[in-house]
Order: sequence, then C-alpha cells, then structure tokens
Amino acid sequence: MSRKFDYIIVGSGAGGATLARELCRKGRDVLIIEQGKNIFPLPFVIEKSLEGTDIFTAYGAGGATVLMNANGVRCLEKELAGFGLILDQEFTELETELKLAPIHESLLSENGSLKLLQRCKAAGIRMERMPKFIDHTKCIRCGNCSLGCPTGAKWTALEFLHDATAHGAEVVYETKALKVIVDKGKAKGIETLGPNGRADYYGDAVILSAGGIKTPVILMNSGIDEAGKSLFIDVCELWYGVTPDIDISDEPPMQLINTEFQERQGFMYSIGAMKNKEKLRYYFREHADVYMNFPHIAVIVKIIDDAKGRIYPDETISKGITARDRQRLDEGGEAARKFLKVAGARPETIVKREGLYGGHNGATAAIGIVVDNNLQTKIDNLFVCDASVLPRSPGLPPVLTIMAIARWFAKTLS
Ligand SMILES: Cc1cc2nc3c(=O)[nH]c(=O)nc-3n(C[C@H](O)[C@H](O)[C@H](O)COP(=O)(O)OP(=O)(O)OC[C@H]3O[C@@H](n4cnc5c(N)ncnc54)[C@H](O)[C@@H]3O)c2cc1C
Repeated sequence: MSRKFDYIIVGSGAGGATLARELCRKGRDVLIIEQGKNIFPLPFVIEKSLEGTDIFTAYGAGGATVLMNANGVRCLEKELAGFGLILDQEFTELETELKLAPIHESLLSENGSLKLLQRCKAAGIRMERMPKFIDHTKCIRCGNCSLGCPTGAKWTALEFLHDATAHGAEVVYETKALKVIVDKGKAKGIETLGPNGRADYYGDAVILSAGGIKTPVILMNSGIDEAGKSLFIDVCELWYGVTPDIDISDEPPMQLINTEFQERQGFMYSIGAMKNKEKLRYYFREHADVYMNFPHIAVIVKIIDDAKGRIYPDETISKGITARDRQRLDEGGEAARKFLKVAGARPETIVKREGLYGGHNGATAAIGIVVDNNLQTKIDNLFVCDASVLPRSPGLPPVLTIMAIARWFAKTLS
C-alpha cells in the first residue's frame, strides 16, 4: 500500500492552493493531485455547453487564477454567513496580505480611464476603479492579464502553491482524479489516472477543489448524485463601440467597474480593450477589423444568473439562460449603451457581440444541498473546497471569496 497522507487535495487552483498552504503551514502532510501540467502560462480553455454557451477556464498549476484579470471583491458574504461561514476575518487577512486595492492611478491613462471617470461622474454614472491584486510597480500595462501576466505583477494561486510545496506539500501533475475510494461510508483515498496509468492515493481525508465544472463529476462518480445540478457561470455579454477620443488600450483590462445595478437588477458592468489580435478576432468575429485599428471600448455585462445549468457524469455541460437571465442581460445592455454614448462612441459602431460566455462557475456542490456547513459531503471525511460550494451566482469576481472560504475551512480542520 502506498504512503498515507493527512489530506489529499484534488486541484491546485484558488480553493486547493489556498487550503494546501494553510494546512502545510500547520504541519499537515498534504498531497495535491493536479490534472493539468505545471507550466506557465496555462492554455486558455473554452468549454462549450450543449446550448452553445462558452465557459472559460484553465487546467493546470494554479487553475483558472493564472488567467484571471486580478479583480478581487468580497461577494456572497451575507449568504455564507447564513450557513455559519463568517468570513470577515479571512477577507481582511487576504486583502492585507495580497495588498488588494483599487487599481493604481499610474496604470490608468489621462486619455483613457481617467477621462472616462470624469465624464461618467458628470453624467451621473457610478464608475469606480476596480479592486485588483496587481503590483503596479511591476505592471507593464500590456493588457495580457488573462493570457498570463508576463512580469509577475498579477497575483495568482501559484504563489500559494509554491508556499505549500516549500512547507512540504507534494504535488502530482498530469494526474486526473476519477473517483473517491470509500470504505464503510468513509473516504479513504482517490483513484487517479496519470502518465503511468491508474494509481490510488490514500489519506485521512479527501478534499475536492477541482473547480465548479470538474468537482461535481468526481462527486457523481463517487455516488453523490445530487452534485452537478445547479451550475451558474455569471453569464456575460459584450457590447462595444469605437471611441475616437478615449483610448484605454494601454491599461489592464477590467480597470473600472459599475455595480450600481447589482443589488436591484442583478447585473454589473466593466470595460476593456483588446490589443491581442487573436482575442479580438475571437470576440468580435466579422467586426474585428472595425476595432483592430481604432480606439475602442468593450463593455462586459455580467449578471447574477439562475443556477439552472447542469454537469453530467460524462463531463458534458448544459447551460443556457432563463427568461430572467435574458431580462438582466437586456437591462445591462441598456446601461452599457448609455455608458458607451457617454464615452463618445460613434453610434453606428455600438454593437453587441453575439454569444454568451462566463468565466466564473460554481454552485454544483452547493452548501446546504451537497455539502453541510462544514463543507463535508454525505460521505465522512470527503469535503469540497472550491467554487462548487458557493450557494448561488455572485455576479461578481468570486476568487477572493473562494480563498476566504478555504482559509476559514483550514481553521476548522485539525
Ligand atoms: C479568463 C478568466 C478570467 C477570470 N478573472 C477573474 C478575476 O479577475 N477575478 C475573479 O475573482 N475571478 C476570475 N476568474 C474566475 C476565477 O479564476 C475562478 O472563479 C477560480 O479560479 C475558481 O477557483 P476553484 O478553486 O473553484 O477552481 P480553479 O482555480 O479552476 O482550480 C481547479 C483546479 O482543479 C484541477 N482539476 C480539475 N479537474 C481535476 C481532476 N479530475 N483531477 C485533478 N485536478 C483537477 C484544474 O486543473 C485546476 O487546477 C476568471 C476566470 C477566467 C477563466
């Protein structure tokens, strides 16, 4: 029989790396099983739902955080407190350690976001600087946050992963967790498939942190059929326009945020410009040439979507939108058009990109449904600690909340 660990953690992203670091710092013996490679940057993966929705993610060391835009906000604080997860202390610890702050003014340009902020203020639009995990002294304003920051200015879960390994964590890469090994109702280990074929690993507890798309697959394959049923993806639509006298192209994307409609109408919007031609082509398709050589602003409308998507044991995904989602997207579109006009976009260039997408996913092992208030499943010693446990769509960047949950959870484990 192979060596037995205190904890086996599946996945090295926001939830897994944060948890591994905390447990290793307490002297626990931790093994991390990671499906992807230990390379940087990770490839940008687009999973397609049966309905044609694009779901952005990444597989490998650091998980989707490697490609994130470094936006960090507290979300679902009240809802999680309702389940006994009082996270204020963990949020504060993370905000302090990662120096979370509104994007530094030096990363915004006079003729770009600084001008936009003035115009929005005059027009009564509540646009604010986005809170970021970016060290402005290292940022070269290349705009490639979501392709993997080339200078290390952006914080990613790789930092926690490296800290975990420095404190003794072992990681096996390119090894996919398939199914939890259960004996007399208790989790004992995990069955995996790696470069050398099938292998079993054993631990006193197994914690799934494989993300909102893959954790439910492992759960279902381990007999927890309730998993995978309430997927959200924080559905987004993109609006864009050519803005002759405002150029935000040399700023980090998602530099400003508007949350004034979040609580009552369930949407927020943010902005970006794309310098990367391949990405521009992907987003704007036949319109790409119009935007390639002109200053433009893309407005990302992101909603709190109904958690009605589904993951199946064979890894297929069903995710469309409901009538309420459509209404939220349309109301967000109206706000986006108003904003673009204030930004001076030429009316004939204001267009909506066809197609829905989302980069945040979860609720597929929701707290109160699939896991209890200690994040334990109905199988003893089998826990979940990632976006899957979120109770609903936040409609806001979730990574800070996922990490706060992981920190809180580590404190509850002996
Ligand atoms: C392009 C992009 C931009 C984003 N920008 C932001 C942002 O600015 N702010 C924000 O808050 N959020 C952002 N997000 C979302 C954020 O990155 C995710 O919500 C967060 O990383 C989810 O954390 P997680 O621990 O649930 O999963 P992940 O971080 O995705 O980690 C899951 C890990 O599990 C591994 N894994 C999966 N299946 C298996 C298996 N069977 N066996 C072993 N390992 C497995 C994966 O390879 C991965 O490493 C962005 C996402 C994308 C894709």
